[in-house]
Amino acid sequence: VQRLAITDTLTGGYNRRYLDQFLAKEIQRCARYQHGFSLIMLDIDGFKAYNDAHGHPAGDEALREVVRLLRHNLRVVDVVARYGGEEFIIVLPETSAERALSVAEKIRAVVAAHPFAHGRLTVSLGVAYCPAEAESTPDALIASADEALYRAKRGGRDRVVS
Ligand code: GH3
Ligand code: MG
Ligand code: MG
Repeated sequence: VQRLAITDTLTGGYNRRYLDQFLAKEIQRCARYQHGFSLIMLDIDGFKAYNDAHGHPAGDEALREVVRLLRHNLRVVDVVARYGGEEFIIVLPETSAERALSVAEKIRAVVAAHPFAHGRLTVSLGVAYCPAEAESTPDALIASADEALYRAKRGGRDRVVS
């Protein structure tokens, strides 16, 4: 029951509730104990077209597959949460901005190379970093990643911006 309360039922990733709790704690650790961490926001490119072409159930399966790929390519301490319909937030504890950038790039490449049931899909990613010495809030950090994601979309998609 406890696990269900923090799980996204469609994908098996964490849900918003868990993300909010985890991020609040991570921000506290960041400020109080000098542990910097990174956050990645990921959005699937052209997902509406994938749904339109192959149907909503196929879209749902692709969402589950994306979460599987993320988990396979991250550490157990990293948190993969479904933030919105086809948007995910990944929290990387104890991870520098440079390292997070390379993790995001690896994820981008893995998804782009993956043979989904109905063909290829790509993702765009925005990376934000919570520096140990600075005050930050969950909202500010998410806004920063969202802005980077927006620039990745504007820049042509299938890319990482930090
Ligand atoms: P882009 O992000 O590249 O700008 O284009 P997009 O087509 O992906 O645009 P956007 O991110 O706004 O699209 C969200 C689409 O994702 C709309 C909806 O069809 C689809 N979607 C959202 N949630 C779900 C879901 O739970 N299941 C399925 N199958 N599709 C979903
Ligand atoms: Mg999208
Ligand atoms: Mg979206």
